[in-house]
Amino acid sequence: MSTAIRSSSVELKDIHVRFGTLEVLRGVNLKVPSGSTTCVIGPSGSGKSTLLRCVNRLQEPDSGDLLLDGESVIASDPDALRQRVGMVFQHFNLFGHRSVLDNIVLPLRSVRGLSKEDAAEVARTRLAEVGLADKAPYRPAALSGGQQQRVAIARALAMEPEVMLFDEATSALDPELVKGVLDLMAGLASRGLTLIVVTHEMGFARSVADEVAFMDAGRIVEQGTPEQVFEAPASPRLQQFLSQVL
Ligand code: ADP
Ligand code: MG
Repeated sequence: MSTAIRSSSVELKDIHVRFGTLEVLRGVNLKVPSGSTTCVIGPSGSGKSTLLRCVNRLQEPDSGDLLLDGESVIASDPDALRQRVGMVFQHFNLFGHRSVLDNIVLPLRSVRGLSKEDAAEVARTRLAEVGLADKAPYRPAALSGGQQQRVAIARALAMEPEVMLFDEATSALDPELVKGVLDLMAGLASRGLTLIVVTHEMGFARSVADEVAFMDAGRIVEQGTPEQVFEAPASPRLQQFLSQVL
């Protein structure tokens, strides 16, 4: 991949989210330096997806602040924010009735206002970068899950985001398709894009993350380097979690 990357730092300050009486995020603080990768791990229901959704304001927090590149974006235009912060979901979220190429072209035209020709050129370049140039005319259903996820990543990258969020991007994939997607994500990390990755892939977290944050019951209970978190977990909850997943 060749396109130069402009990445930003992310900071969450004392983020609270409630759904009715349930407080799902209970004061989350997280700093992700520009160009670094933070993996978020933790049990189901601990608030990982909600935290990630707060970073591009698909979820609006009840209180707290969100800083991108050191500036608060908590009250800014959410669409402008989402151009800067790309997100990749577990279930790809591609347009099923459109070609692979159009899945990338349409948002480039509507969000970035590119001409049809320019959008197609960017889309073809991005598809080639994820090894799928030959899939441009097909519907997503004609591709494997791993290929569909790579299209979703290409679509997000086409917006030239400064930060990318991955929410269990490989959880829906057949085991043999996981590595291709993780390798692509690792490539983005090594190119210096800022990544926040919710994952159950502890091998990825160990080898790619600069920092690992462990969430439980709406809080980041423990955070550190992969060595600290995996080799010397301090809290009993993290010790218990690791004994279940490793
Ligand atoms: P995780 O991604 O760690 O599994 P989530 O962030 O998806 O956790 O969910 C955290 C908690 O918030 C869960 O108890 C979940 O049921 C609840 N929750 C998530 N989204 C909503 C919503 N839109 N309305 C009500 N409760 C929600
Ligand atoms: Mg989740």
